[in-house]
Amino acid sequence: MESSGGRAEGSGRGPRVLVVGGGIAGLGAAQRLCRHPAFPQLRVLEATARAGGRIRSERGFGGVVELGAHWIHGPSQGNPVFQLAAKYQLLREKDLSEENQLTETGGHVGLPSVSYGSSGVSVSRELVVEMASLFYGLIDQTREFLHSADAPVPSVGEYLKKEIRQRAASWPEDEETRKLKLAVLNSFFNVECCVSGTHSMDLVALVPFGEYTVLPGLDCTFPGGYQGLTNHIMASLPEDVIVFNKPVKTVHWNGSFKEASSLGETFPVLVECEDGACFPAHHVIVTVPLGFLKEHLDTFFEPPLPTEKAEAIRKMGFGTNNKIFLEFEEPFWEPDCQYIQVVWEDTSPLEDVTSELRHVWFKKLIGFLVLPSFDRSVHVLCGFIAGLESEFMESLSDEDVLLSLTQVLRRVTGNAQLPAPRSVLRSRWHSAPYTRGSYSYVAVGSTGDDIDQLAQPLPTDGAEAQLQILFAGEATHRTFYSTTHGALLSGWREADRLIALRDPQAQLPGPWL
Ligand SMILES: Cc1cc2nc3c(=O)[nH]c(=O)nc-3n(C[C@H](O)[C@H](O)[C@H](O)COP(=O)(O)OP(=O)(O)OC[C@H]3O[C@@H](n4cnc5c(N)ncnc54)[C@H](O)[C@@H]3O)c2cc1C
Repeated sequence: MESSGGRAEGSGRGPRVLVVGGGIAGLGAAQRLCRHPAFPQLRVLEATARAGGRIRSERGFGGVVELGAHWIHGPSQGNPVFQLAAKYQLLREKDLSEENQLTETGGHVGLPSVSYGSSGVSVSRELVVEMASLFYGLIDQTREFLHSADAPVPSVGEYLKKEIRQRAASWPEDEETRKLKLAVLNSFFNVECCVSGTHSMDLVALVPFGEYTVLPGLDCTFPGGYQGLTNHIMASLPEDVIVFNKPVKTVHWNGSFKEASSLGETFPVLVECEDGACFPAHHVIVTVPLGFLKEHLDTFFEPPLPTEKAEAIRKMGFGTNNKIFLEFEEPFWEPDCQYIQVVWEDTSPLEDVTSELRHVWFKKLIGFLVLPSFDRSVHVLCGFIAGLESEFMESLSDEDVLLSLTQVLRRVTGNAQLPAPRSVLRSRWHSAPYTRGSYSYVAVGSTGDDIDQLAQPLPTDGAEAQLQILFAGEATHRTFYSTTHGALLSGWREADRLIALRDPQAQLPGPWL
């Protein structure tokens, strides 16, 4: 195989390291390695034309919209994304305040400002507050099963439904109110599917659910776009470290690869790209999303991964959560409105839906966040939708999505004349070939041990050249999976693992696990 020339190649100055993927995990790893003198031969191979991965801010609606990561979850001292964003001066004054950092939200989504029912009548705030407190009380209870040997049911969804069924049996209200309560709860289930990035909470394992760790701090956004963070990290790297449009096809490992320009030198790993270019290396840090790994498991590693690691990848959960932005000429919501909940009155978490997706997909939408106005003539709502319905939405045209959501909004507001949105913009994370979904969760049949299994470097026995393949990315962080801070910490963790191998005297700030 022919190998590619370039930066510091064949100079024999320290190990050759490749990072596959230029998301925050890959960039974080690269930044840390670049700062250490033992790693002058470093490259990041990124499949697409941009860095940032699932951090993706785009110009739109007169400002910036986030197609991927939206908030810093738990912006406080223990959150490295918060720390970096503060250092790079990317946050608002109020988000840096001590008060914000100390606020405990328990990871729960805030209450809606208004809850529209599908009959065109708003649901009373009292009822919504009562159901929110029931739902999030039960979510908190799921933590009690962490490490428990006798969980009553396998999934978070089944647990919630069992408890709700019991409580609903003694609700004193009339039939109509009881149905409405269940419909409101169904909307909270849909929110939780977005939070977990799953089609159904029945797919999310109960026992390990509490292992996900919520940091203190009131979730905050980046006024100039989340991507400002990855752009800053990228700017700190030497110019030619990142190679764009270089999708990796196969990572050959446990080999003895040579290249013409490095006389006599052999490398245990050879990274083969889709365009035929080959990069020999001593170490490769793989940061591709779990969705990509699942899809290409049979061809991405040669020899194939050990059985336990391949099994962990198959068992772990990776689902879809998408955003749909709608731009309006005039707001139809109140000036102080922040979150519009949509409640489908004919739904219940206790009943399964069997209708065809094209007739019902929009019922999975949780409602809309009101985005802060960039200027007074721009009014934007951001809808969130998870699961198979979200994947189906990706297959529709912009016109179809805009039409369906206009009908939804006319129906729930009871205003048949409500002007259609001016434009629509949405994410399509499931169709993205180098992502194939949104983020990971611990699925029924898997545990946190599978996350650790995925994070284990190869080879495992240490008899061969050590640390040939290392694994980073959000899905490899046992307690912060699905987040940007989990991804960043995982990149640092693997960089430090390499630094510790090559420079045992190095003072490292870890452990990162
Ligand atoms: C809609 C949505 C909303 C989210 N909201 C939040 C939020 O509010 N807060 C939060 O903390 N997190 C959020 N997340 C999750 C967060 O974005 C991710 O956890 C994090 O960005 C993942 O970083 P990563 O480096 O692990 O992976 P990625 O960012 O996916 O980076 C992996 C990189 O690998 C590249 N790649 C893939 N295959 C190959 C290949 N074969 N060869 C070369 N390169 C390849 C990809 O192109 C990509 O650039 C959200 C995600 C989504 C999708």
